[in-house]
Amino acid sequence: MQDRIGFIGLGNMGRPMASNLVRKGFPLVVFDINPEPLGLLEALGARGAVNCAEVADDSDLCVTMLPTSATVEEVLLGPGGVLARLRPGGAVMDMSTVDPLLTDRIAGAAAEKRIAFVDAPVGRLAAHAERGESLFMVGATAEAFARVKPLLEAMGTTIHHCGGAGTGMRTKLVNNYLAIVSCAFNAEALALSQRFGLTLEKTLDVVLGTTATNGQLKIAWAAKVLKGDTEPGFTIDLAHKDLTLIVDAANTVRVPMPIGAAARESFSAARTQGQGAKDFSAMVDILCDLAHIDRPRLS
Ligand code: NAD
Repeated sequence: MQDRIGFIGLGNMGRPMASNLVRKGFPLVVFDINPEPLGLLEALGARGAVNCAEVADDSDLCVTMLPTSATVEEVLLGPGGVLARLRPGGAVMDMSTVDPLLTDRIAGAAAEKRIAFVDAPVGRLAAHAERGESLFMVGATAEAFARVKPLLEAMGTTIHHCGGAGTGMRTKLVNNYLAIVSCAFNAEALALSQRFGLTLEKTLDVVLGTTATNGQLKIAWAAKVLKGDTEPGFTIDLAHKDLTLIVDAANTVRVPMPIGAAARESFSAARTQGQGAKDFSAMVDILCDLAHIDRPRLS
């Protein structure tokens, strides 16, 4: 029997991911507290539910793509939440980026109810999710991995089975540490280049051809902030949330992260200025505005 699929959380990532599932023939029951993406999914052929409980009641395998640890905890572990309603033999796949200790607790609560649990946080950007080209870092038993694999193949192109439950989330924090900290130091480097009055194109030519190369500057920024596009994407708020998760998780296991903590505070300052909803590449605009430097733009 094919699993009936539920999908909760239809934001910048969840909407395109769920859309790809519908387009590729998976019957889907979906929910988001925001009616707008819910309507878009219904127009594609998914069935909209009135709340998370209805999704849990009408699915065997429930996927979540929610913003924060607190939301995931409420939706999965809360009273009347998904785990309380899903039948034994069912499965939960959380694809959000959350505190790995929460992931461990959800895996434990699921096991008690004989529900399979998979953590499968997502790599790459919202534009990749639109095209079904995401990367997944999966923590699961071999059996649970086989069960979710067809869904992952419908949403992405690269699937890494990292180990048992919790290993996907921990791999994601390591990945995002590198991706997000580089955003903060790229902002400083390009603000300095602007202040020096250098040509943006020439500066990029030089630094992208040396060991200074990093993916944010090379791949992501050229199509985002340097073209004047600061629509999210991945918001400054979520980047701040991830860096907080990463520094806290590292400190819990006694790994000091001095550069990560400083980068986190750059994101914190951007949020204080009311810029939290912009794409995280907008860090460079915020720094340039602060120092009264022209924003860097590719012609
Ligand atoms: P988002 O804020 O755009 O989307 C979250 C969605 O969850 C929203 O539509 C919101 O209405 C919905 N929601 C919130 N509370 C809810 C509830 N109680 N019940 C149902 N729906 C609820 O966030 P996003 O950018 O899609 O990111 C989702 C997760 O994926 C985050 O943990 C983020 O860190 C991670 N992530 C994001 C990106 C990216 O590029 N945006 C990439 C990889 C991973």
